[in-house]
Amino acid sequence: MSTNQEWFERALRVIPGGVDSPVRSFRSVGGTPYTVVSGEGAYVTDVEGRRYIDYVQSYGASLLGHAHPAVVARLRDAAASGTTFGAPTPGEVLLAEMMTDRVAGLEQVRLVSSGTEAVMSAVRLARGATGRDKVLKFDGCYHGHSDALLVAGGSGVAQLGLPGSAGVTEGAVADTLVAPYNVVPRLDESVAAVLVEPVAANMNLVAPREGFLARLREECDRVGALLIFDEVITGFRLDYAGAEAYFGVRADLYCFGKVIGGGLPVGAFGGSRDVLSALAPAGPVYQAGTLSGNPLATAAGAEVLSRVTQRDYAELSERVGRFAAAMAEAVGSAGLVARTPVEGPLMGLYLSREGFEEPRDFEEARRLCDNGLYRAFFHAMLDQGVALAPGAYEILFVSFAHSDEDLSRTVEAAGVAAGRVARTATS
Ligand SMILES: *Cc1c(COP(=O)(O)O)cnc(C)c1O
Repeated sequence: MSTNQEWFERALRVIPGGVDSPVRSFRSVGGTPYTVVSGEGAYVTDVEGRRYIDYVQSYGASLLGHAHPAVVARLRDAAASGTTFGAPTPGEVLLAEMMTDRVAGLEQVRLVSSGTEAVMSAVRLARGATGRDKVLKFDGCYHGHSDALLVAGGSGVAQLGLPGSAGVTEGAVADTLVAPYNVVPRLDESVAAVLVEPVAANMNLVAPREGFLARLREECDRVGALLIFDEVITGFRLDYAGAEAYFGVRADLYCFGKVIGGGLPVGAFGGSRDVLSALAPAGPVYQAGTLSGNPLATAAGAEVLSRVTQRDYAELSERVGRFAAAMAEAVGSAGLVARTPVEGPLMGLYLSREGFEEPRDFEEARRLCDNGLYRAFFHAMLDQGVALAPGAYEILFVSFAHSDEDLSRTVEAAGVAAGRVARTATS
């Protein structure tokens, strides 16, 4: 039988670093990545036949769990009818209708092929619509890997300890401003847009302080800047209608990805008809894509969205709340301190040896994520068949497929893992 080691060595020969996205490498936790051959619901199986309860869930793209039968059936049908045409299709209209029906501030939406593309295009649109250059982002938020937005990024950029990226010119970031999360920055009239993750979920989890998003909205209005919610993670995961419904704050532009593709490559950005009228072919801001609105991606995305109700989100959030509390308690009684902040069904995990406050910004999150405990905890969980993301800056994704039994097995494993870490790493 082939092993993870063999596959990873083959990968290293032909794929840089052996992975197609840096967050998948085990660089920050050490060891060899497991190579997945299949997934089913809450589980993934690697090439050695080991099964893991999976909390990566494609970094949030998978909401119903892996290979949901209805999604698979819908994909089969869609594939048999042709996978891409370069002409309008009903599928893209249906998905756009579902999204605009739910998010009040979203009147029109353009589909693209990744979250990166969505945010990059939204920023261009904001600049085109306002005639201004500057974009403000928050320290530790991740908005995809486009040149202008990698600075002070979370996720893999934070995980690898990079300040940004080589190959990005000073010119490309000259118009990018960076501010600490959870503090409303003072803007001026050079700012085209403020880009924010409504719940910061790429620096582990940092929830917005009470009133932060509402006051950000006011500050944008004061100077005529557009507020962009990067909902690539929060969109249709945090809530039935995303962050706008959850926090009661309206944005000017919204970016989506992950969940809305049902596990296929997709992204979307949109907002009011007025702002979107600046986009080609109606307006002067150009943006395009051969595979945009792809029939497979729109079929899977629409199938996923159609299967979850408002009530389902509320129930999942409650279950995750109980799970998070149980995880913190299990870790605590084993001799470490954990905090597991929750926002809707999103859940973070911070570990420490001493008591601490929930982080409010990237500096505070980083101190905890870089304390070295996660690495050992991660491997102790993996040994017990629980796959967390191989990096301390990622959150846990509990899908609709995770059963109560899966969650309680995970809590048990966390107690064992924390005990091991507490005993071995004290020195
Ligand atoms: C994942 C993510 C992106 C980038 O999406 P890709 O599909 O990986 O390009 C952008 N913003 C946020 C908040 C994300 O979590």
